[in-house]
Amino acid sequence: MPAREPEEKTGILWKSLPGNRVQCDLCLRRCVIPQGERGFCFVRKNVEGRLVTEAYGHVSAINMDPIEKKPLFHFLPSTDSLSISTVSCNFRCKFCQNWDISYFSEIRGIEIAPSEIAEAAFSHGAASISYTYNEPTIFMEYALDTAKEAKKRGLKNVFVTNGYMTPEAVDAAKGFIDAMTVGIKGSLKPDFYRKMMAVPNSEDIKGTLAAIKEAGIHLEVTDLLVTKYGDDLASVAALSKWIAENLSPDVPFHLLRFFPDAQLLDLPPTDVDLLRKARQTAISSGLRYVYMGNVPGEGENTYCPVCGNLLIEREGFSSLVVGLTQDSKCKRCGAQIPVLLKEQKGAEKRRQHKRALCKIPIYLEQTALCWSSSRR
Ligand code: SF4
Repeated sequence: MPAREPEEKTGILWKSLPGNRVQCDLCLRRCVIPQGERGFCFVRKNVEGRLVTEAYGHVSAINMDPIEKKPLFHFLPSTDSLSISTVSCNFRCKFCQNWDISYFSEIRGIEIAPSEIAEAAFSHGAASISYTYNEPTIFMEYALDTAKEAKKRGLKNVFVTNGYMTPEAVDAAKGFIDAMTVGIKGSLKPDFYRKMMAVPNSEDIKGTLAAIKEAGIHLEVTDLLVTKYGDDLASVAALSKWIAENLSPDVPFHLLRFFPDAQLLDLPPTDVDLLRKARQTAISSGLRYVYMGNVPGEGENTYCPVCGNLLIEREGFSSLVVGLTQDSKCKRCGAQIPVLLKEQKGAEKRRQHKRALCKIPIYLEQTALCWSSSRR
């Protein structure tokens, strides 16, 4: 992945402050940046009183993923999503799975225009483009320009985000970003966020979740249960109850198994039995669609909350819609289920089921793309 000469493109959502300083209003850090310096995320810089984004157009990784990998379970199941990232992040998670791109403090990547990404996604049969692997909020301008190109081709757009974006940023995404998976860790416990992720106020993320819902963007929430530091059932119950009461009992909730990575290599993976208890806790707290992640073959299927009918069968990142009508009703009892289905012709279902198991290397052969089947 070669280092790039950074481009100086003016960013969105910032204001001038006295003394040639600028304030960035993209993420909840709201960095005040003196002349010549950078924000916490490194990729946004004050150049002579103007906020510029150096991440624009520099792709660090590109991959064709099944949408289930984001994870999105209620949004276009059994489709592919062309997934892209840039570098760096506005968090510093000690356990980051993508630390090789999120810990970067120099601009790296392949230059690809928004229209080229959208065209690649369209021509390879993707139903959406995902802005993922590193935090998309910090490359919002590039993501939105790409999303606009995707829309012209009839594709949807997906953010896989840590949720630390401002209400103004959610507003900017409205109309262009169709779905967001918000990745919570340790059930949003404030001390866990401060010590393990360098995030001062995790409670603010609840405001972002509400803004996403209010904007009419499809929302799913994950909660990574980090062994020893962020895996207590009382916190799972509190978060689940808050989602059910303040967002909707229908928000899909994914409890993810932690695997050691980055600076936390000495911890064991999350105990699977604890994950099972967490799932029961979330269901008891009022959520209707609760899944387990990173435990292949368990806690992945969608069932009708009214009659118990199997609606979507999953195995790993592969899924098969078995119990839903095309207008997302349970075939057995007729209950309306909050799942957005892609228009399907019956004979295609099984083919798509198999196809979702494959990684499809695409795009320009001359680019040294960073392919990784393990990226989340
Ligand atoms: S996006 Fe970057 S510069 Fe802007 S507030 Fe967040 S960390 Fe600071």
